[in-house]
Amino acid sequence: MLDRTCARCGNSFQAEAKEYTCPACRKPAGIRKPWTGPLSFREQQIVSHIAQAKSNKQIAWDLHLAEGTVKEYLYRIFRKLNVSNRTELALRHGGNSNRSTTANV
Ligand SMILES: [Zn+2]
Repeated sequence: MLDRTCARCGNSFQAEAKEYTCPACRKPAGIRKPWTGPLSFREQQIVSHIAQAKSNKQIAWDLHLAEGTVKEYLYRIFRKLNVSNRTELALRHGGNSNRSTTANV
């Protein structure tokens, strides 16, 4: 093992002969939780439609999306908000949606 300074972040670390970056910098960025974070504008729109008990088909129609795309958004929303189905989503996140905005969509 060698004492080496990371080529990327400058931290010193114990390295094998051929390593030039520290273990933290060697981790691929994609390994960090990709399914968290705030909802996008589109995802918020879909949540507000779910809160109005609309079907995927109706949501797809209203937002000019394919039905399959709505499903993809839904799965992503479920993961982000840690809910398992649309009923739970509507119960937990529908109440605070802005109905005056959604009524105009
Ligand atoms: Zn580093």
